[in-house]
Amino acid sequence: MIPKLVFFDLDGTLAESKQPLTDEMAALVARLLAVTDVAIISGGALGQFLKQVVERLPAGAALAHLYLLPTSGAMLYERDKDEWRKVYEERLSEKEADTIATVLREAAAETGLIDFTKPAYGERIEYRGSQVTLSALGQEAPLFLKKEWDPDRAKRRALRENIAERLPEFSVSMGGSTSIDVTKRNIDKAYGLRKLCERLRVNEPDALYVGDELVAGGNDEAVFKTGVETRSVSGPEQTQRLIETLLD
Ligand SMILES: [Mg+2]
Repeated sequence: MIPKLVFFDLDGTLAESKQPLTDEMAALVARLLAVTDVAIISGGALGQFLKQVVERLPAGAALAHLYLLPTSGAMLYERDKDEWRKVYEERLSEKEADTIATVLREAAAETGLIDFTKPAYGERIEYRGSQVTLSALGQEAPLFLKKEWDPDRAKRRALRENIAERLPEFSVSMGGSTSIDVTKRNIDKAYGLRKLCERLRVNEPDALYVGDELVAGGNDEAVFKTGVETRSVSGPEQTQRLIETLLD
């Protein structure tokens, strides 16, 4: 039985960090869209989803079955005719974003893990409306550098703990391979999953979540708070095999 709704994490699951879907993956996602609803949830902003996923899908893909949850579920977009329509957004005010940015710099200094006086690959702190993201090496850092920065998650764990202690009124989670995401309190992947299940009237156990960090402290950990079924993958290649199994 194919799940009524399949959620995918993006980076490390459907694609390599910030890379576009491969042709093969795009074709598989399109085949899945033909038979069930598909949602993608990740810390990135909407533009990142369009570039990495939507623009890669073959012509004629059933976009009406695709749901996009940028900024870890703090926003939901659905397809309405030829547009992506925002269903909700849990926005942070600019004042809240400023407070968060100050704390991110303090935590970076106190842990000694990020030196803001050194140049970065693009901005280290980005305000994405519903989320503020700290990227240790900068938003545009090359993939190989990101991969070697924190392979055992120890740096992100230390940063996350330090930041969470200073910001008890917000949710603080590990983002991608070098990043920490801050959103409104209790706004996380679990929130996004629940909101979409409710909207589509899908019982949580009839939905499936696929992610590469379904572990304690991992970027997909919040999903365990829901009743959604989970499947852990090691990377895009395993995700492809899983989609093939679902389609069989
Ligand atoms: Mg991931």
